[in-house]
Parts: sequence; structure tokens; C-alpha cells
Amino acid sequence: MRNPHSQIRNPHSALRNPHYDVRMNIRIAACGALIALALGTTYVSTPIAAQTRKPPLRHAQGAPQKIDEEYTRTIRENLQDPRITTELVDHLPASDTVPSPLKFLGRAVGAPGELTYAKDISRYYEALAKAAPGRAKYWKVGTTEEGRDIVVLAIADDATIKSLEKYRDMLGELTDPRKTTGARAQQLLHTAKPLYYAISGMHSPETGGPEMLIELAYRLIVEETPFIQNIRNNVITLITPVIEVDGREKQVDTYYFNKKRAQGDARLPLMYWGKYVQHDNNRDGMGQFLKLTQAVTKETLEWHPTVIHDLHEAQTYLYSSTGTGPYNNDIDPIVVSEWWTLAQNDVMEMTKRGVPGVWTYGFYDGWVPNYMFFIAHSHNSIGRFYEVQSYGPDPYEVRPGATVTSKEWFRPNPPLPMIKWGPRNNTNIQQSALLFSLSHVAKNKDLYLENYWLKSKRAVDKGKTGPTYAWVIPATQRRKADAAMAVNELRTQGLEVSRAGTAFKAGPVDVKAGDYIVRGDQPFRTLADMYFSIQNYPPQNPSPYDDTGWTFQYMRDLKILPVTEKGILDQQMTLLTADAKPPGGIEGTGNVLVVDHTGDNNIVTFRFRNKDVKMLAAEEDFELGGHKFRAGSIIVPDADRAAFEPILKDLGLSAWAVASAPNVKIHDLDIPRIGYVHSWTRTQDEGWWRAALDTFGVPYTYFADQKLREGSLRSRYDVLLFPHVGGSAVSQVNGMPKTGSAPLPYKKTADTPNLAYVDSSDDIRGGMGVEGLVELARFVQEGGTLVTEGSTATIFPEYGITTGVTVEEPAQLFVRGSILRAKITDLKSPIGYGYESADLPVYFNQAPVLNVAAGGFGGFGGGGRGGAPGTNPNAGFGQNVTPNAVPLRIQPFESDTNAAPSGRGERPPADDVAQMRQLAQQSGITIEDARPRVVMQFSANPNDMLLSGTLANGQFLANRAAALDHPLGKGHVVMFAIRPFWRWQTQGTYTLGFNAIMNWNDLDAGKTAPAGRGTTSQQQRQ
Ligand SMILES: [Zn+2]
Repeated sequence: MRNPHSQIRNPHSALRNPHYDVRMNIRIAACGALIALALGTTYVSTPIAAQTRKPPLRHAQGAPQKIDEEYTRTIRENLQDPRITTELVDHLPASDTVPSPLKFLGRAVGAPGELTYAKDISRYYEALAKAAPGRAKYWKVGTTEEGRDIVVLAIADDATIKSLEKYRDMLGELTDPRKTTGARAQQLLHTAKPLYYAISGMHSPETGGPEMLIELAYRLIVEETPFIQNIRNNVITLITPVIEVDGREKQVDTYYFNKKRAQGDARLPLMYWGKYVQHDNNRDGMGQFLKLTQAVTKETLEWHPTVIHDLHEAQTYLYSSTGTGPYNNDIDPIVVSEWWTLAQNDVMEMTKRGVPGVWTYGFYDGWVPNYMFFIAHSHNSIGRFYEVQSYGPDPYEVRPGATVTSKEWFRPNPPLPMIKWGPRNNTNIQQSALLFSLSHVAKNKDLYLENYWLKSKRAVDKGKTGPTYAWVIPATQRRKADAAMAVNELRTQGLEVSRAGTAFKAGPVDVKAGDYIVRGDQPFRTLADMYFSIQNYPPQNPSPYDDTGWTFQYMRDLKILPVTEKGILDQQMTLLTADAKPPGGIEGTGNVLVVDHTGDNNIVTFRFRNKDVKMLAAEEDFELGGHKFRAGSIIVPDADRAAFEPILKDLGLSAWAVASAPNVKIHDLDIPRIGYVHSWTRTQDEGWWRAALDTFGVPYTYFADQKLREGSLRSRYDVLLFPHVGGSAVSQVNGMPKTGSAPLPYKKTADTPNLAYVDSSDDIRGGMGVEGLVELARFVQEGGTLVTEGSTATIFPEYGITTGVTVEEPAQLFVRGSILRAKITDLKSPIGYGYESADLPVYFNQAPVLNVAAGGFGGFGGGGRGGAPGTNPNAGFGQNVTPNAVPLRIQPFESDTNAAPSGRGERPPADDVAQMRQLAQQSGITIEDARPRVVMQFSANPNDMLLSGTLANGQFLANRAAALDHPLGKGHVVMFAIRPFWRWQTQGTYTLGFNAIMNWNDLDAGKTAPAGRGTTSQQQRQ
């Protein structure tokens, strides 16, 4: 896991251990004392060094099993520190029939300087299942964006593997207390088996989990100690060794590529992991856009795992998850005890054996359900994870600071001030801990099965006892296409959705026939509780690990109404068994079609799917045939009804056919040529924009910011999209440092066959530079539209290219991934087209704070610049053990009328700004004072601002711009302080971005002040 708020923006950080300064790249010679150990035919001794520190805990063995001596020798020789071992992993059993990793892959797990491709791990798993069909079964669970297989291996005893489907169905029975009686459940507790699903390889630079799982699978299949037999007999272990398959192959390529680089030359960071994002692949649990998330959800719904366990690498030496709290409000309280029981079992068993540095509690909170392992919690299972000291694979030294080595209640045997570390330590520590977890669940299988049943039953009962009996999602609400899409995405996650058979009233909620109903009395209602609730995160809590607010209906600008009237459960309704289809089509007759702009994201699909058809946008609200249309509604003159009707039906959009166009101001919706700019310094966040553009059918040309230097941008593009990169304006302009003399290519070659899927470069060093920035300004000056977001919105103001907005960094403001109330202050701006009312819930994360009122180049006043923005305002005031006792003041939303990066404080030096201005002048670009058009701003009243999440000192955000349109020459710079395309969750604000794209050369439409040099081509249609 990675904390996006504390991300080090150093492009090389992926290659380094982020926690320590010293990482000596030394190969540790095999310890003489260990080599000197005598080897018998059967393995009976523990390493001397370990014996002196540890009680003899070797489990009694039955008939002695032959040891794989060659492999066992590698374990000893590769171990970097004799304390990091247990009797479970200090040897490998031999097998005549099942190939060891050494035999199959040519090297043992934990060999320094080597990494294994996912395709080879999969091949090995397939071979294990072939060699031991009684104990293992292998299958494919999905395909990645780049077309690679995601696989799983199931391991259990012969009888269980033979009847795997029977055991799956037993867990299925325990999942649904509506069908399974208590008596039947009691029987099942003794006959069913818990399913433990281990997943790794999600965060591609965290390389050890997949390696360790190679060995664990073999051990679980082959070993005949009572300890392993007990696991095999009582638990079904499911393993997906690499879930981010695309990223793993790139990581292995990158590692070997860097090995061959000369000293002093720049090292290649791991660029793209999957096609779209990097560590956000573990923030997709709610959005469920990525194939890897969909695969785990599919497995969860089919197999009902009792535990889902992710293996990560970001702590010293092994952190077993519980978290500091606050814990998610809607998980069943039983889960909290399960987290603690499992984690304490890990800490105790490892500590008993003298292994230092195994701990819990002091990392991560437990709040936001966007992690992959939260798929477990929304389905009544247990989700947990490890963070292990990095695998390497090159050995190194770990010298943590006092905050890591101090003895604390949650860390009874803390990490050491110095230790030699490397791949075998990593393998030993996490394999041992995982085996103790498996063993604990095997020994307590009835308990965990009973808890699972109880959690499912309590979820159903919650719907019967209230206070929330159901949720209603009006099917004909304004954004009806988006509502149907949301329903379908929720169904994919296992939530049952019904449709009302007749109209009825449920308390104050008017339900229409056909409305979607999420019944509260269903096993996975926890998912609805988690997603539809309002979050309240008092800042007195420990600093949040990630987002604090995520309320589904706010993020999607939808109506989802909780029902507190029990009678709704008895109303006539039918369970949806296929995707919901939103109503759409054409009413009336006539040659002119008017498509209502409802804010639905499919509006942009409609435009681009018919790019050769002339379409116009109404610039004002109007009424036609008794229907009220919002500005932005699309007028298609001389429309071919037969062609359009099926498209509108497919998209769930409604159009009215009329004889003549409405008498309203209009402009052409010219299809833009779109360029999409990314930086090589960071490819983490921008992919969420591509996710939206690809899904809704907006084509673009993707290229790196370096290419801006080539100029002639305006002749090639009408719109340039430049999503959030992170870092300061300066770092974004400079790009990756020009370290070393050799170019740093990112290309597909024979040695790096998996790189450059999305983009490539002969040399990724150096960004746009001031020259590229001048070209970007020239592009706008010549009439292009540049759309920026988050960090990229600060570049033009900071370099003084746009003069009407100031970037503030108020140290006192604390708002971490929250949902805030914004007001569309200019409903006539094309960017706000389709939105019904002025108020809109928006996602905002700390920065940037854009002040238009303070305006003026050089006026960096406003909010003060000291301190680190977004630090907990209550830190250092002593411990508050009941931070949730005083909830935050949160406003209800009435809709019917990343990360704060380090080094943000760096502003361009005066010299750079002067150079930029001089270059601009030489290029014929005049920078002149112009006032931006504020399209949307945050509430004036700080007490009215927070809708979900956390906020302190909101007065520093009051009236600041959330979205603005800055004129520059003949063009426009659109700046979003909010993140309109955030993790597939903020679908309610996608339309702001789509509007800017569709109306790119008419953004001055509806402007009350003189349009300056705007290019509005307004026509009065007769
Ligand atoms: Zn991770």
C-alpha cells in the first residue's frame, strides 16, 4: 500500500526503499556458520544462530519427510540475517512428483538479484496443479487491460479438491441466511471449510509477495508436517500470486534493464503499471473500473472467501493490518475483533520465535472502503494485508529511525537499529506469518465460519429492524442514464436491485413504478451502508491515510433516497436479473431533434459517436412542447430519425422531435482535435481521465509534455488536456532531471518486451521546459483550449502567464479527500451546461487553492505560506482516545432546486519567470491582464461547506474557485481545483470536463462581461 498523501514525488522513488536513507547495494556472502551446518537426509536441526535465540518450537513430525537438500541450502545461504527465520520456512521438503521452484524455474525463491515474470509464476502454478491434481487446481479468473491472464491456484487436501464445487456451494449457503436456516447453518459450520484468499503483486515495485507465493504453494502441496496437514485439511487456500500482471512484467523488465545501466546514468523508474494507473490499482474497490478489481470481485461472489489477504511491501519488517482507526463506520463490529485476533496471532507467533519487527496498529487507519481488500468487508468476509520490508531483490541494510525501533504496546519486539536485509528475509518473514494465519484459521475454522454466517445474518436482519429498510434510486431522475449505469455497477458488486412494480409512497419518498429499490434485508447490504452513508471524520483522529469522504450519490450527482418506512419491503417489486436499461428515445415529430442536456455522461458519447453530423448547443435554458431544457441541450437540424432513435435508446438519452428549432442563442458543437499531455515524472493519476474518455468514447492523441517543445500545437490540436501530475509548477515544467550523460529510453525492445504499451520515448529525461511552456501558452493564445486540473492548474498562474488567479497554500486548511459543496456561479458558462441547480457536491483534496479575488501576478498573498498544508491541525496536543465523540458539523445536501505532494511550496524563481516572459515576447505572445470567469466556487460559508469527509478551517477555502475559465489571447485555460475525474468515482463532475471539450471554441457563450478577445461565434437562429 502507498499513502498518496505522503508520496515522495522523486521519480526514482519506486526503485528505492522509501523509508530509509541508507540502502547499501551489497551482496551478502553466505554466512559461514550456516553453511557449516551438517545436513542429514532428513532435516532435523534449526540454524545454530536461531537456536540460541529461540525456544525449540519445531512441530512434532510424523514419518520424517525427505528434505530437498539443494533447495534448503539456498535458503540458508541466501538468508541475510539468522534471526529472520522460523522452523516453518528454514527448509523445503522434497517431492518425487511435484517440481520444486528450483527444478522448474531454475532458481530458488529468495535468490538475490533475480525476479520472476508473472507468466513464469503462472506456468509454475499450472505445472503444480498438473503434478498434484489431488491437492491443487488452477484456473484463470480474468484478463488484464493488456490481455494477460489473471490466475488462481486452489490448494487443499485430496478430498476437498475433488469436491471443490461442493465446498464452494456450502460457503454460498452460509452467505444467504434468507435461504439457509439456523439449523442448517449449524451443520455447515462442521462440514464447510473456510476459504483463505491470498493475493499479491498488486503494487508492482513491491516484488516479494509473488516470489514468496511460488514457494508457499509448493510447500502447502508437498509438506507432510502435522502443521501443514492441518492447514490443508481444514482450509481451502486460494492464491493469486500476481494481480497486477501488466505491472509485474514491466517491473521485471525495468529491473533487469537498470542492472545493465552504467554507473552514474539515470535509472528507469517503473512507469505505467497497468494501462491506466499505478498504486491507485488499490483504490478501485468502490469504482471497480480496473480489470484486476473486477477479477477479485468475481472470485469473491463465486467463492465467498472467508479471508482476503493482500501482500504489500512498505513497512519494517512486517506490519499485520489493523490500523490506528477510525475504522469504517459500516463494517460489522465482529470484523474489528477478527482483524485484531488475526494480527495479534501473527505478532505472538513470530515474537515467540524471536523474530523481531512484527507488529500491528501503527500504520493505516481502516476508514475508506476503496482498497481491494475492502471487497471482503462489503461481502461479510475479512479483509487484511501485510506490509513487509522490501524484497530487493538486491540485498541492502535497513537502518530505521527511533519512531520505527521504539518498543511500543503494539510492537513488543520492535525492528532493530540495523539489519542486513534482502529477498530471503522477506520471503521467510511473510511466508511464516501467512502460514501462522492459515494455521490459526484452520484451528478455529468453526469460529470463522460462524462469524461469517452471523455477519451475513446480521446484515439481513438490519433490513428488518431498520432504521434504513431500503434505498430508492429514482429511475427517471434527471441523470437517468447515469442512474442506470450506477445500478448496473452496484449489481456487478453483488448488490441486489429490484424494480418497483407499482407506484407507492414510502414515508416521504414517492416511489414510481420502475424505480430501482435496494432492499435493506439482503446479505450484502453492508455495501449499500458503506457507499450511501455520509462520512464524518473529525480531524482529532489520526491523520487520514487516504480519502475521508466518498458518499456514492454525491460523487455521482444522483438521487439515492434512504427509506425508513418498513412497509416498503412488502411492496410489489421484481429483482433485476439483467442490466438496467434507462428509458430513452424520441418524442414528437419533426425534422429537428432536441436532445436534453441532463448532465448524463452519455451526452458526450452521443456527440462523438455522431461526429460527422452538424450539431448545435443552446446557450440558454428554454421551454419546448411543455418540456424545460437546460442550456447546453443539443439541437440536430435535419436529423435522420431512423438513425438516431436506436442510438438514443442505447444511450438512455431523451430527445424531442420538432418542426423547427427553438428560438434560442446557439453555437456549433465543433468536434475538436484533442491532444492529451502526460508527464514522464508520474503516470499515476492521469489514467483516470483516460478511463473516462475511453469509456465514453472521446478520442485523443496521447503524448508526453516533452513534445510540447516541438511547437505548432495549434495547427494540430484544438483542445489540450493536461491532467494532474503532482509536484510544484517548477517540477512539472522541468520534468525528470537530466541525470547522467546517456539517454534514458522507455521502449519496447527484445530485453524489455513489456514496456511502452501506452507511450514510448527515446529519452524520458527533461520535461516541457520553459520552451515547451511558451509553446503551450502560444497554443492558447492562438485560440486553443487548455484544460488543467489539480497541480497542472497552478503552472500558468505560477509562471505569470495567466494573471487573474493566485495559488494559495493556507497552512491551516485541512481537507483530505472530502466532498464539499460547490456552487456553479455561472450557469450560463458552457462548462456548467446540463447541471440543474447551482449546488454541486465535488471532490477536493487539499490543493490547489485558487483565489480569483486576490488576483494579479505577483500577489502571492491571501493564505499565508508557512507550515505544511494539510497537516492535522490538532497534532501535538496530546492523545485524544475518543476522537469520534465530537462529530464534525456536516451539512445535508439538498440537490433539488492526491494528493498533496511534497515540494509544492516551490515557486518558479524570478529568473525563470523572466525567461519565460522574454521567450514569450520573442515568440509574439503578449501576456496581458485578463479576468477569469469563475464557473464554480466553494461555499462562502465554511459551516455550509462539508458534505462528507473531513474539514478544518474551511474559511481558507471559502469563495475560492473550484473551476474557472481564464481567457488568454484568443483561447482559454480551463482550471479545475477539484478533481473532476477521480478514480472512476466522481462521475457527477465528469460532465464539467466533457462540456469544456464539446464547447471548446465557444466557452465565452453566455458571458455577461464583454468577451474580450473571445471567439464566441454566437448566432441567432430564426
Ligand atoms: Zn502496496
